[in-house]
Amino acid sequence: MDPDFAEMANEVKSKVILHWNCRGLVELPEVIRLHGSHIKEIYLKWNKLTTLPPWVMELFNVTNLYMYGNLIKQLPMELGEMHQLTVLDISANKLEHVPSCISNLRNLNCLFLNDNFIETLPVELSQLSNLQILSVSGNQIVALPEWTGSLPRLKELYAGNNRLKELPNRLTLAPELTIISVGSNRLTYLPLNGFLSAPFIGFDSNEYLNYVSYPLLFQCLSQLRTMRLHKYSLAFGCFKTRYDANVLSTNIKLYIEKKGLYENDTDIIIELPRQLLKIHEVHENVTCSLWELALRKIYTERYKHTLDVSTSPASVTILYSPLPKDTKMDLMLSIMNRTLYNLLTNGPVSICVNSHCQQPIFTEAWIIIGISYHAKSLITIALCCSRSCASAFAAHSSTFNKLHWHSIN
Ligand SMILES: [Zn+2]
Repeated sequence: MDPDFAEMANEVKSKVILHWNCRGLVELPEVIRLHGSHIKEIYLKWNKLTTLPPWVMELFNVTNLYMYGNLIKQLPMELGEMHQLTVLDISANKLEHVPSCISNLRNLNCLFLNDNFIETLPVELSQLSNLQILSVSGNQIVALPEWTGSLPRLKELYAGNNRLKELPNRLTLAPELTIISVGSNRLTYLPLNGFLSAPFIGFDSNEYLNYVSYPLLFQCLSQLRTMRLHKYSLAFGCFKTRYDANVLSTNIKLYIEKKGLYENDTDIIIELPRQLLKIHEVHENVTCSLWELALRKIYTERYKHTLDVSTSPASVTILYSPLPKDTKMDLMLSIMNRTLYNLLTNGPVSICVNSHCQQPIFTEAWIIIGISYHAKSLITIALCCSRSCASAFAAHSSTFNKLHWHSIN
């Protein structure tokens, strides 16, 4: 027997965790197949693997598989048969697509796909109902799918250093999120509604991002207080560019007159989330479209969703829960078109900030723009469901230095 093989066989037989990092391996040694059915964790970091052999499915006991820093471009479908896997790390490889077989790994808790060449996350990943950590930093992802907000156990989402222009609105409804890390992207806005689970959101170095909504600002400030960080560390590296004119978008853009408010302040342009189709100033006395009113009505019948923002950054409370089943409404929902269905399941763009109202807002709103006294460099926008709510909020809100604005498209 080859002495190297014998030595490896002895090692495999005597261990439960294999540390085979930095060994120059170009393929997974077959000795694991022969003697390693008891192995629980395999570390294969910094080798030269280009794929895995199909017999990897025979390693019934492996729960953790680490392949950071190899040359993997493709993986065999048989990887999807490793149902016992809880941790899979394929970071720093050559993946252009997420292998669809990963969606069969229903026990997966942690999936690391950082530093590859991935552009999209396939819908099959939405099947990973046990996923707690999804890490896709350092890829070329333009948009995170809305279903990331529906992964029921997701706690940590890392997607920094990509090409994200916006975040899924449904993330605001994710029940267990504690960390969202999306620094160094091309975000022009964050979701306007407060996040149900009040996660820490790291969004530094998004140079096109130049405002944060009123509920989210308060959530971010209370997070900073908890972490004992200074408010000036919020949005570090944002506000660098006035507007990303290179990106084609039909989103509503607002020109905001900021001139002279503080030294060196110039007017800026902000872009609103694409869900918003119509906006009004505080004094505009018009009625909402029937479409918007219908959305609000259906949503309120189906869900209880409230957002309580106190006037100091100390507390923000959000409640969200489905109401008891209503067969008449269910029948109506079942014949709804896709757009309506998506709007309702992705959640409202905001809840009316008038604390006595709290109606959901989907496509049309009255907007108040200002600079909060709590974070002086940040432009903040507050959405109301009607003129009367907007007037009441504008009159009573003492935390705002209100700014003039007009729509430019
Ligand atoms: Zn209202």
